[in-house]
Formats: sequence, C-alpha cells, structure tokens
Amino acid sequence: METTKVGEILKKPIQYVKGVGDARARHFIKFGINNVEDVITHFPRNYEDRGNFKKIIELDDGDVCSFEGLVMSNITENRPRKGLSIYKLNIRDETAIITATWFNQQYIKNVFSPGERYVFYGKVSKKYSTFEIMNPVYEKVDGSEMKNTCRIIPVYPATSMLSQNIIRSVIKNALQLVEGKMFDAISGSIRNKYNLSEINYSIQNIHFPKSQRDFDNARYRLVFEELLLLQLGLLSIKNNLEKDKKGIQFHHTGLLDKFIESLPFRLTGAQKKVLEEIEKDMESTSVMNRLVQGDVGSGKTIVAVLALFKAVKCGYQGTFMVPTEILAEQHFKSLSELLYNWDIKVELLTGSQTKKQKEAILEKTATGEIDILIGTHALIEDSVRFKKLGIVITDEQHRFGVRQRALLAMKGENPDVLVMTATPIPRTLALILYGDLDISIIDQLPPGRKPIKTYSVDESMRDRINAFIRKKVKEGRQVYIVCPLVEESDAMEAKSAVELAERIAKKDFQDLNVGLIHGKMKPREKEETMRRFVGGDISILVSTTVIEVGVNVPNSTVMIIENAERFGLAQLHQLRGRVGRGAEQSFCILYNEGKTTVSKERMEVMEKSNDGFYISEKDLELRGPGEFFGTRQHGIPDLKIANLYKDMEILKLAQTAALDLLKADRYLISEENRELKKQVLERFSNKIEGLSLN
Ligand code: ADP
Ligand code: MG
Repeated sequence: METTKVGEILKKPIQYVKGVGDARARHFIKFGINNVEDVITHFPRNYEDRGNFKKIIELDDGDVCSFEGLVMSNITENRPRKGLSIYKLNIRDETAIITATWFNQQYIKNVFSPGERYVFYGKVSKKYSTFEIMNPVYEKVDGSEMKNTCRIIPVYPATSMLSQNIIRSVIKNALQLVEGKMFDAISGSIRNKYNLSEINYSIQNIHFPKSQRDFDNARYRLVFEELLLLQLGLLSIKNNLEKDKKGIQFHHTGLLDKFIESLPFRLTGAQKKVLEEIEKDMESTSVMNRLVQGDVGSGKTIVAVLALFKAVKCGYQGTFMVPTEILAEQHFKSLSELLYNWDIKVELLTGSQTKKQKEAILEKTATGEIDILIGTHALIEDSVRFKKLGIVITDEQHRFGVRQRALLAMKGENPDVLVMTATPIPRTLALILYGDLDISIIDQLPPGRKPIKTYSVDESMRDRINAFIRKKVKEGRQVYIVCPLVEESDAMEAKSAVELAERIAKKDFQDLNVGLIHGKMKPREKEETMRRFVGGDISILVSTTVIEVGVNVPNSTVMIIENAERFGLAQLHQLRGRVGRGAEQSFCILYNEGKTTVSKERMEVMEKSNDGFYISEKDLELRGPGEFFGTRQHGIPDLKIANLYKDMEILKLAQTAALDLLKADRYLISEENRELKKQVLERFSNKIEGLSLN
C-alpha cells in the first residue's frame, strides 16, 4: 500500500537522500537529523523574501531587497591592516551604480567577471547618492532556475559544517523522494472543518512557498497537526487515569468549619471561593482534577491543608508532594502545628532519610496509621503504598512532569487530584500542560501586604546597599542574598554562594550572623541552617536558588539577588516572593551585571511590576519562547513548529478537535484515524508510560 511505502522512505537513513554521503551524514546526525522524515521536518526558522526587486536608483538606506545588475570590472582587494581584507565590486543597471563589499572572504576574488549578469540580495546603505551593499547573496543569471534568489528563501537552523545552501538542497532532494506520496494523518472531514490544507502541499510550502499565502496555509496546517497530536496524547494520559470510573464522594463535615474558625487569620475572599470549588469537586461523584493557580504569597498552602483536612475527616489518607526537601520540611512543620489539636497524624518522607526511618514511615502509611504523608519525589517510588488514599496534592506543579502527577495519583483508587502552582506560565503552555484540569485562581493577596519595592543596581552601589542591609538587620529584620551557582565556573564568572558567603560573613558583615544554604549541602545541614533562619538566629541567609520555591519566613524583608541577569524573570519573581510575606515593607535589590538593552529592559519589568502574569508574558516576549520554558522538562514531546507564544488560537482549535475525535472514537480505531493514532503513539509512547490508546 502507498502508505507503508512512503512510511518506509520516511524512516530511511539520511544517506538515502541525494547529496548526503557518509561524511555529511555524520554532521546531520550530530545535529539530530537521522532520517528522511527528520530532514523534511527540519523546519525553517525564518524566511527571506528575495523576490522583492528594485532598480538601483530606487534603493533606500536600510533596504533589504534584491536587484539585478552587470559586473562592471574586476573585484578589487584592499588590506588596510593585518588580518583584514576588503573586496569591492562595482555593479550597474540602467539607472545607477552600486558597490558590493565583502570582508575576509578570499574565495570571492575569483567569482565574478566583467560583463556578467547577477542578482544580488542584501542590506543596502545609501550615503548621499552612493550606494553600497555588504556581504550580499549573489546568483548568476544564466537562464537556469534561480535557487537562492528571486523567491521566498527559507532560513534554517544551521551549523558551521551544514550551511544554509547545503541544508536547502538536501531538503529539496528529500522532498522529491516523497513528493505527492505523503499520507495525510488528518482525515478529510477534519481538514474541511478546520480549513486545513493537505499534507503534501503543506510540507512543500513550509519549505519553499511560492507566496506568503501558501506559506501561511502550510504553517497553519502543520502547527494544527502538531498541537492536535499533542492534545490527543495528553488527553489519553488523563483518560487512563480516570478510566471512566467514579471518584470518591466525600461528605460535608462541620469539623472543617470549626478548623477554619480556629486559624490565626481569616481566609481571603479568593481563598474561600477556591475552597468552595474544591469542596464541590470533592463531594461530587467524579474525580477532581483541579489546578490552583495563585501568585507567590497568595496563600495556597492553607487551601491545600483544608482539602487534606476534609479528606482525612472523611476517613481517607492524603499526600502532599513538593519539589524540594526544604519545602517538604517547612510544610511538614507548619502542617504538624496546624493539625496538632485535630487528631491527625502527619509524616514526612524524603530521599535523604535513613532506610530505617523510611521503612517505619512506609509501614505506617500502608496500615493507615499516618493520615497525611508529605514528601518529595520519593513519594512516587513503588515502595510507597497507602491504605486508603483519597487525595493527592502537588505543590509547585510546574517543577514536576505530567507523568509524575499521574504516577502519584495511581497510588490510590481514583483519588481526587489537586495541583498548585505560582509560576505564572504563559496561557498557551497552561492550556497544553493543564488542559485536562479545571482551574481555580487565588487572585487576591492576604490583607496588609505592601508591594515589594524593587531596585536594579550595579556594583557601584555595593556600599550603600550593604549599609541598608545593616540597618534592616538592626531593626530586627532578616535578609536573603541569592546567587546563581554553587560552584564557580570560570567561564561564567558567576559568584559562588560559598565564596560569597565567606566574603560576606568575614568581611562585609563580620559582626552579624550569616548562614549559608545550597543544594550540595547535606540535608541535615540544610535543615539545621533553615531552622536557625526561621528561628531568627541567622540574620542574613546566603543561598543558591534552593530557596526559590515555597520558603516562607515572613520576618525576612530584604531580598538581594546577585547576577540577576542570569535568571529568568519568572524565577526572579519567585525568588522575590520570599519576601513581602508579612505586613512590613519589603525590598528586592537586583544586582544587574548585564550590559545589553534586553537585560536592562528585563530589570525594568521587575522594578515596575509585582504581577506574576504580566512578568511571565514580558519574559516570553523579551527572551523568545525557545529559551523560556523547555517543554521537555514536562515530559511532553518537543514542538518543532508550533510556537507557544503565537499559536494560542490554533491550540484552542486543536484542543476542540482532539476532544471531539476522542469522544467519537475513544481509541482511534477507525480507518480514518489510523494514521493519526500511529503518530500519537510514535510521539508519546517512549516519553510517557500509561498511554491509553493501545
Ligand atoms: P504561597 O501561595 O506562595 O504558597 P503561602 O501559602 O506560603 O503562599 O502563604 C504565604 C503567607 O501568608 C503565609 O505566612 C501564610 O500563613 C499567610 N496567609 C495565608 N493566608 C492568609 C490569610 N488569609 N490572611 C493572612 N495571612 C495568610
Ligand atoms: Mg507555596
């Protein structure tokens, strides 16, 4: 059959493509391109419209466009100093003369002969009436097909060994192998419904579009397909969890109201609203799958505690997973205190406990003696078994993958699932990662919080800042100083926490109590330092980003961040969120060593805003989606063409399409969906266990 034949071609090794010998194949493989399919899905990162022509006289300063002209004379070479060669060539058309200039490109000497006709493309500069073009692309006009000019030209991710020209011609050859033969994974009816162009047309036009319109059509279709596959995969994981079985129906308990009344503070309106949504889910017959999103400091922990409380008082166990040991210990401590009078047994499980400690805890969890088990990733291990698990909560969900969330939930029989996050991720990514979740938002901070005053400074301010720290410590406040890395890497010249702590403790603040905490310390040391900081023995805590998530010491009001330019804005916002947790005015000082405009702009965003959502959108805008948020860490396949920043609308459509598809054909077994299913499995099966399509 046609489909298997082309399927075989797609899986042929890269050498199968004309123009790829063994040597070149090695470069492609290094670049992650192994077979024919990889070649044709090596999508351009950009395009240059080289079809836009002007006469030389019409060229404006700064124009990027093409013109055709006659070589007037031989190229001239000039060596103003050692290591610099400048080549100049005069070209004319019937309107004017222009000079093309190349630097240090020896081979250019022998390319042109007077009287020959060429097309040039590049960026033009015009001073008075002198025209010049630097390092232009050129192609001889000799009657054969123009390959590199006169049309829309794709620009690919390339390497020094694989130039644009090589990649372009290899892709062209690969496309010829499958021309007209590609089998469309998206059925005709869906294509009609969503206005999607056909696959053969799309794959051709994403690389070599004849017009902007062709390109737009092609891209739309390919983005849709990629997001559709992603959604189908993710929806299938969720369906696997639910298995159409009923969830636990928790009952209403008056004890919860009493517990709420006993808290040292009143819940905010937003907390109450979210708690209502959670209770409604818990009391319903279906499984709760809910995401609680709330900016740092909005008070998510207590909401989790209330849900756990309810589950326990209904006769079930609960578990609370967090990404770091520091946070696990902190939650353990605060939950133990809160629940002390309520006959609820809380325990802690982390990777660093001794075997004996662990065994005792595991035993008590299995028998049901422990009501609430708090812990790190250690909770997902096979050895962890519950007697009657009713609710699963993950804090700082963005630090975990889709799969880890699923694995934890599998420890019970359809337990309710609550996930919490402060990291304001872009809406598109939220839809992808949490598309299967209902969302509750805590959009209000507890009363009395003042916005954190944030200042970006440089080294010249060091003495003044140190004086400020001293003043705050004298007033009884505590201070964090965060630096990017634990160990000095020469290349990055980052300040290491260890070195910095030493300098600060022995020099800058030798009369004050300085503590150090970093990821490579023994858990016991970390715990001890944290305890002393919480207790107020330590005034200044120098740390790496281990304190980034969740840590709550309301008496700390100053956050100093060294080399702030190395952090993402979302991360800076998280770090800053460690202060401003009480009624006192808090401050955040960002030492910015970055010299670029972008790094300056990023610091300005931090100075201006305390709004996590605004900050993350800005970060995405300034850094670009590629660097922003690896989808990989979430256990979902890499996106080759869809752009999390731009393709929100397409994502929504693809999501609807995916839901409709699975409603009509739960296991994608119809002939129409066969290829689609194959591709979902191919993309997901080695990434995520428990995919329920097969
Ligand atoms: P996050 O949402 O960042 O996890 P936490 O749950 O750690 O925030 O809460 C931050 C601080 O606010 C804690 O000290 C907590 O006790 C306090 N808090 C939470 N809810 C309220 C409230 N309704 N009123 C006053 N303080 C609150
Ligand atoms: Mg928290």
